[in-house]
Amino acid sequence: MLGASRSLTVAEETLHIGIDDTDSKDGMCTTYVGAVLFDVLRSLGVRMLDHPYLVRLNPNCPYKTRGNAAVALHVKLGRERIGDVKKRVLALVERLYERGYGDTQPGVAFILGEVAGELAGFAERAVREIVSLDEALELAASSGVELHGINGGRGRIGALAAASYRMDEYTFEAIAYRVPENWGTVRRIDAESVRAMDEATRGETFDNIDPETGEIRIAPHTPCPVLAGVRAVSAEAALRGLKMVRFNEPVERVVVFKTNQATDRHLVECSVAELRPNMSAVISGVVCSTPYTIPGGHTFIRIRDASGEIICAAYEPTREFRNIVRSLMPGDRVRAMGGVKMKPEGLTLNMEKLEILTLAEHYVMRPPPCPGCGRRMKSAGRDEGYRCKRCGERLPKSAAERKPLERKIKPGVYEVPPSARRHLTRPLLLNRI
Ligand code: ATP
Repeated sequence: MLGASRSLTVAEETLHIGIDDTDSKDGMCTTYVGAVLFDVLRSLGVRMLDHPYLVRLNPNCPYKTRGNAAVALHVKLGRERIGDVKKRVLALVERLYERGYGDTQPGVAFILGEVAGELAGFAERAVREIVSLDEALELAASSGVELHGINGGRGRIGALAAASYRMDEYTFEAIAYRVPENWGTVRRIDAESVRAMDEATRGETFDNIDPETGEIRIAPHTPCPVLAGVRAVSAEAALRGLKMVRFNEPVERVVVFKTNQATDRHLVECSVAELRPNMSAVISGVVCSTPYTIPGGHTFIRIRDASGEIICAAYEPTREFRNIVRSLMPGDRVRAMGGVKMKPEGLTLNMEKLEILTLAEHYVMRPPPCPGCGRRMKSAGRDEGYRCKRCGERLPKSAAERKPLERKIKPGVYEVPPSARRHLTRPLLLNRI
């Protein structure tokens, strides 16, 4: 090939890496494993195709530790480096996962090249339903996906879902991590700086502060490596918000995740008859009971559509939201959204948001004025109509005056406070901007 220019371009491949189930209630966080991996691979010159993904899976999953988070990294690299990168990923997961817990069952997925449609379908289902490990293993085998499991490896479900998740609706979260020496100690975050950040960036960032209690919402209460995370509609705003927070302790690293948080992707519009435990649903129907509150403060109503009836709950942690529910009356048309659980009382929809479409007209009945003297008449006894004490005039029960009841609520969408909100649930604030 004398004289011909020799091309040195090396064939590049896309590798999608998914990781899940590395943490226990006592420590670690799968986002931290993702963050460390992101930095390690970048330092090795591996090209990142996007931000790392923080994928929230089904919030009703009984196996979750906390927020059912899995992570994915999407990289482009020379074919000859793939083996080495995979080894590094597995070694890192081995090094960081929480050992000694039966429920911590790490999983890692490697998808080379295009993500097939049925894989994306599986990921979508993992956000909305319960899927089995067998199904994940079969799908991986038939799609050429490499899965690795440790300690039982249930995390392969989440790892496969995260690696194949199509992030076509998203927000961002900039997360600062603590140095290992500080894990498990009280987080030293300047609360005033969080309030100032919230004011300066509100609308672009969200859920920094609980508006009802003033509680700081950017830091977890668990002994995990996360120091704080700022959620935002853009990566730039998330990072800008995080930089405005004063930390009185060292920050080990900061990573901005692209995430399906605040997208409502877990919600499935369906009829009451189609509701199943552990899914999240939107049902439209008519209130068919008066609301009632039980000791402990949990409040319930029943909603009916053409296919059946369901109990809808506003539990005590939803605080003021319960007042909205308590103001409902039979006949009101609503859309209720939330997770479906099997409770001793039956299938129950745990409301995250409630849209009041129309309010039913209710009336208060009162005695009519006396046709003789004009004074208000008195009841003449049960089913006896009305009698005027002054002039003895009588009128039947049907003569009662009907006054429309003034309702305390208005049609509109209502939501639970940030402290009771699912990561996947879209705050109403984001629909207003
Ligand atoms: P953290 O948010 O702190 O990272 P976590 O709440 O994400 O913790 P995990 O420790 O990851 O919880 O445990 C969730 C487990 O449930 C994983 O093994 C994951 O594979 C599995 N899982 C996730 N979604 C589903 C689903 N839809 N169906 C069945 N299993 C699932």
